[in-house]
Amino acid sequence: MLKIAWSEKYAHALPDGHRFPMEKYTLLPEQLLYEGTVSEVNFFTPQSIDPQYIVNTHKETYWEKLVSLQLSKSEIRKTGFPLSRELVEREMHIMHGSVQCCLYALEYGVSMNIAGGTHHAFTDRGEGFCLLNDIAISANYLLAHQLAERILVVDLDVHQGNGTAEIFQHESRVFTFSMHGAHNYPMHKEKSDLDVDLPDQTDDATYLKLLDRHLKEILAKFQPDFIIFQSGVDVLATDKLGRMALSIEGCKQRDHLVLSVAKLNQIPLMACMGGGYSQRISHIVEAHANTFRIAQELYF
Ligand SMILES: [Zn+2]
Repeated sequence: MLKIAWSEKYAHALPDGHRFPMEKYTLLPEQLLYEGTVSEVNFFTPQSIDPQYIVNTHKETYWEKLVSLQLSKSEIRKTGFPLSRELVEREMHIMHGSVQCCLYALEYGVSMNIAGGTHHAFTDRGEGFCLLNDIAISANYLLAHQLAERILVVDLDVHQGNGTAEIFQHESRVFTFSMHGAHNYPMHKEKSDLDVDLPDQTDDATYLKLLDRHLKEILAKFQPDFIIFQSGVDVLATDKLGRMALSIEGCKQRDHLVLSVAKLNQIPLMACMGGGYSQRISHIVEAHANTFRIAQELYF
């Protein structure tokens, strides 16, 4: 069964009118239910993560400042969010969602969190709408519990997974692969195990060819036993921030490529959502929904 993490808390923690597209966290599960891709039984409600798993990835000093709402003004500004207790709580539920999805992925082959992909959170700071890094926390959880030995992070959000790259720069058991816009945020990029810098206006065919080639090469070389997929949809041509030229169909083929490689090689996969900033919310929801539709189609 496709287990999906979702909580009411995912959709409520920002003041009305904030530029971050919060509606997708309500509209996406609604759409998936409405069209019959999933039913209520597919969803589970994450709880708040035990902080020991946070400080297994993030610096304790950073976590303490965050949880006690003591970040400095400039630290808060970099996150792009107004800091609040509710926001930290939301983040903790998202972290638990991703960890729990990893456990479900081990059981069912694939599992997905309707949030997360917070790849701009570093060891000791947050930025770009990310406070804690669910990809890194999940990977460290799997390693600590000996549930995986070689984890591949496939980060296909249009922005580089800079936080994840920094966190795992000295961890050979985690391979960080990021395909992103060369001229997009972050301007200073960290070093992933493999970075693929894409020129502006990269189209479907070019993108898919590159992804296919690199994925196959990494799989052959690194031989992962777990995949964490950051499936951001800010690669769409309609995205306000993306600078890419992918169609919704191209983005769907991207997801199909990643999921079918995982399925074919019997590597459990956890997907988290990442960014999406198209003008029309329906484009964002449609592209994210495709990831879930493909999982249902391929696995169940
Ligand atoms: Zn992004």
